[in-house]
Amino acid sequence: MIQAQPISRQAPRWQHALREAFTRPAELLAWLELDPALPQLDLPGLRDFPLRVPRGFAARMRKGDPLDPLFLQVWPAAREAETVPGFVADAVGDMDSAQGDGVLHKYQGRALLITTGACAVHCRYCFRRHFPYSESLAARGHWQPALDRLAADPSITEAILSGGDPFSLSDERLAELFEGLAGIPHLRRVRVHTRQPIVLPERIDAGLLKILRSVSLDKVMVVHANHAQELTGDVPQALADLRTNGWMLLNQSVLLRGINDTTNALQGLHERLFSLGILPYYLHLLDRVKGAAHFEVPEHRARELMRDLSSISPGYLVPRLAREVPGDPAKAWLSW
Ligand SMILES: *Cc1c(COP(=O)(O)O)cnc(C)c1O
Ligand code: SF4
Repeated sequence: MIQAQPISRQAPRWQHALREAFTRPAELLAWLELDPALPQLDLPGLRDFPLRVPRGFAARMRKGDPLDPLFLQVWPAAREAETVPGFVADAVGDMDSAQGDGVLHKYQGRALLITTGACAVHCRYCFRRHFPYSESLAARGHWQPALDRLAADPSITEAILSGGDPFSLSDERLAELFEGLAGIPHLRRVRVHTRQPIVLPERIDAGLLKILRSVSLDKVMVVHANHAQELTGDVPQALADLRTNGWMLLNQSVLLRGINDTTNALQGLHERLFSLGILPYYLHLLDRVKGAAHFEVPEHRARELMRDLSSISPGYLVPRLAREVPGDPAKAWLSW
């Protein structure tokens, strides 16, 4: 007799970690031994884009320090409610290029799939905080329309999985997607943009690694860390596991005021990345998204930092300074 499948299997450990993430500002403050009166965003603002911080990420913050570079990335500060001219809801013009199948095809040869709107962490500077995911998800129901569009255009050689965070999806959904992509003959590469190896290293577990190892296309992963302090704890092991399973690792970061806008902080980040087998790829200027104005570093300061960095670092540890220009066919690389 064939045994029936158990109705609910033990949920993987990373899903527990997600469920236990900090979502209440007061709880995070208490845990970090910070002043409970620290100015914070009002409730309506929080409802749109709530606090979300995995405990493992919070464990890498310094207790008692309201200026900790990891804390500042996730804390819903009262200043988010300020209206600043030039800071708008759709700062990168994605809403114009998004199709109903969740595919953004702005750049030649590469198509980007919005696989899910979910993230393990909510970064307060994120340009996707106002993105209308519900209207353009490849993940809604099934992958087929997105796969069909990629299959119909032989000029597309690279599929970029983005979000949200693709690793918010279950192993089953990811396996389906990778299998679908492997069946498209003109695809050479798959790239995953994810912050989870950094903010939720539990996600890089045996089940996911098995799927990632079996991807037959060339494999690139762009992780997202903004400060060397993020690259501690269980993170180095997660990154090493990705590398041993055939993924080339790159990093993108966002230049953020008070977080990484010094030569020291950036050099420290890049040196640490390199020691973990990752090259810095992009340093993004902040997208001018509503609620994030207090993170902005002026462009002239960014250029100055790049000049300093390039004079003290080997060329391969100097990322490209980039800015999204709404409607333009490629990211603008800024020279300095
Ligand atoms: C950034 C981005 C890409 C990839 O650009 P690269 O220069 O190859 O890193 C592709 N599609 C979209 C929509 C993007 O925003
Ligand atoms: S993980 Fe990436 S997409 Fe998600 S909130 Fe942070 S920056 Fe935005």
